[in-house]
Amino acid sequence: MKVVKFGGKSLASGQAFDNVINIIKNKANEDKIAVVVSAIGDTTDTLEHILELAKTQQDYITTFEEFKNRPYHENTDIKSELDILGKLYEGVSLIEDYNLKIKDQVLAQGEVISSKILASKLLDQGIKAIAVDSRNFFITDNNFGSAQANENISRQKTQAYFNSLDKDAIAIVTGFIGATEKGETVTLGRNGSNYSAALLANFINADELQNYTHVDGIYTANPDWVKSAQKIEELHFDEANELANFGASILHAKTILPLVENNIPLRILNTLNPNSKGTLISGKPTTQGIKSLSVESNVALIQFEGRGLLGIVGIDARVFTALANEGISVGIISQGSSERGLGFIVESKDAELAAEALRKEFQNDFYTKDVNNIAILKDIAVISIIGQDLSTFDKPYAALVKNKIVPILFNNTVTGKNVSLVVKKEEAKKALNVIHGQIFGIAKKINIAVFGHGLVGGTLIDQVLQSATSIEEKKNIRLNIFAIGNSKKVLLSENGISNNWRETIKTDSIPYTIQDIIEFANQNHLENLIAIDNTASGEFIKNYIPLVQNGFDLISSNKIGNTISYSFYKELRETLKANHKEYLYETNVGAGLPLIDTIKLLHLSGENITKIKGVFSGSLSYIFNTYSIQDRPFSAVLNEAIQKGFTEPDPREDLSGNDVGRKLLILARELDLQNEFEEIIIQNLIPEELQKIDTPTFLKSLEKLDPYFDKIKQNLKPDTVLRYVGELSGDLQKDKGILETKLIEVSTNSALGQLKGSDSIFEIYTESYGENPIIIQGAGAGASVTARGVFGDILRLADK
Ligand code: ASP
Ligand code: MG
Repeated sequence: MKVVKFGGKSLASGQAFDNVINIIKNKANEDKIAVVVSAIGDTTDTLEHILELAKTQQDYITTFEEFKNRPYHENTDIKSELDILGKLYEGVSLIEDYNLKIKDQVLAQGEVISSKILASKLLDQGIKAIAVDSRNFFITDNNFGSAQANENISRQKTQAYFNSLDKDAIAIVTGFIGATEKGETVTLGRNGSNYSAALLANFINADELQNYTHVDGIYTANPDWVKSAQKIEELHFDEANELANFGASILHAKTILPLVENNIPLRILNTLNPNSKGTLISGKPTTQGIKSLSVESNVALIQFEGRGLLGIVGIDARVFTALANEGISVGIISQGSSERGLGFIVESKDAELAAEALRKEFQNDFYTKDVNNIAILKDIAVISIIGQDLSTFDKPYAALVKNKIVPILFNNTVTGKNVSLVVKKEEAKKALNVIHGQIFGIAKKINIAVFGHGLVGGTLIDQVLQSATSIEEKKNIRLNIFAIGNSKKVLLSENGISNNWRETIKTDSIPYTIQDIIEFANQNHLENLIAIDNTASGEFIKNYIPLVQNGFDLISSNKIGNTISYSFYKELRETLKANHKEYLYETNVGAGLPLIDTIKLLHLSGENITKIKGVFSGSLSYIFNTYSIQDRPFSAVLNEAIQKGFTEPDPREDLSGNDVGRKLLILARELDLQNEFEEIIIQNLIPEELQKIDTPTFLKSLEKLDPYFDKIKQNLKPDTVLRYVGELSGDLQKDKGILETKLIEVSTNSALGQLKGSDSIFEIYTESYGENPIIIQGAGAGASVTARGVFGDILRLADK
């Protein structure tokens, strides 16, 4: 025999009701069942509401009529129940008062009506069903409103009653209600049908209790708040009990005990999703222990502070006595060993009263200044992690701090494994997601805003979208691009932009300031934020500091942030440090080549870097690698480079040496050198008269460059070639180094001389490596390698 219980929401809508009937039909074919029902939908609340209207002399009749005329009340004989209600309401409205006994009689009708309706609908479908009033056999104490069954009497009566029933009929039993020994109607407390079902299962020794609700089972966190919440497949009774203590409403401790007694498994199922297996709660030990998160948000924190309280005995007793006298129940309590203050959690509705009670109790101590502050913090929430002990709480905690959430108060229990945190209410959802992700090893969600969607930016976005699934599988990291912006407009999408972003951006992007992005991230509780600057803008870098201050890590392929004044460079680093944030820019030099990371590591490990030299620019590499060995005028080679897209639109940007200078400066600053851009000795390869003219004119005058480069080439010694290099030298232990960019001749056999195509090469000379530098060489330019490099930075950050 199985006991199957349906909650009020399972009966609330037409679809759910049909499902209930189908579920019963199917089950009855396989097994013997008894059904327990709650009142339909919000019936209990409505009946109570009408009671209040009657008591306070308001128009209860209209609302009661509406209730009577609810469509599902048609076609079933519930006249006697409605008459009882009518009489009770009338009486209450006459004497303008009611007690718990009357209230129980009123509320009880909801369950009686619902059992009659379900039984009659089943009969209509040809299923033999019979409405059963549990007041016939659930005999309780006199605790109206929240009665407890007398198990011995109830068991006997229940068994006798069920023996007398027609064995072929399915009993549709009222949940929630019982009777005192005198036969007065009682209720078993709100949500009491679960308790009824557990009692019935116990008394008739059922094999299983199946509780049909409107959710698929018990989750690791509320799925409305945490998208990645997982259904818990199996729970041990003890674990279920622990969850029940933290407010899982289906799992009242009262419900679990009768089941534990007879070792009857409880399955939580979903009426609207009958195929889901739900959560099974039983006496079977589960392997790893279960963890679940809960949030209480109708709470307030009371802070009680007194400088003169140290070591005085009896303060706490006075605090809690004062609260007890007002009937206020206290949740988390925290007191430091200095005894200077006490913080505790109460329900929001009790907060004012609690503070008032304390002010009264400590009136004199206020006067003597021993107590100096009693404050209420209202906008808070308590997050509890059930099944968590402190030994492994370091990671979730660090993840919180990294996301700029610092708990106001922190608490663990001595018995049981629970950790509770008090956080600001506005941060609760984000905090919950961060902790949940950490504990369950669920794909860590990285929320990315990409600025600049030109060649590099656009390629990056496509690369991220293409690899997202495989990264989630392999690394458990979910990359969510929630914003794509250019200098004017941004496209925002909380759950991530999709493959057709190039289309959407045309129609859906909106003007913005950086503050809007920050607010969007806050409002949507986005965690693990990264802002990526793929612009070439000197304006955008002004956003770096505000972004960092608001919880973003930074990545840029834009070099400007690292090459304007040293004071900005330093200020940014200090802001990053103060906010525990990172800034990665591997692509600033050598595109995707692992150069900056290598130099950082060498420097950090104490290796003395003595010199860095190399061909830093892909375009200049191509031009001189080609020009040195081909018998063609310089302008022809340059033209070819332009056609192949190897240069900037105006090739003077490359030939001026500024770009190489910037890269050199970035490397120098990695070594803690404090050089400014103006201090770099840069050889500009553009003759003076061609420096000032506009781009189109210059592009038409490329031949004017030929005599200058011809002369250089003619003077080359045998077996040498031309290379445009950047070189960092001098005493690199001092504050400033020597930074120089220049066109030099090198031996054809040297590493520099061997360079091909548009590759870059970097020679890093260090004390330990002596005359043989570490060489990093490869494609050092191009949108797709640069985008890959930025992608690498994203993954580096995501791993932290
Ligand atoms: N109908 C009652 C209530 O709403 C009992 C129950 O649903 O379990 O609290
Ligand atoms: Mg209910």
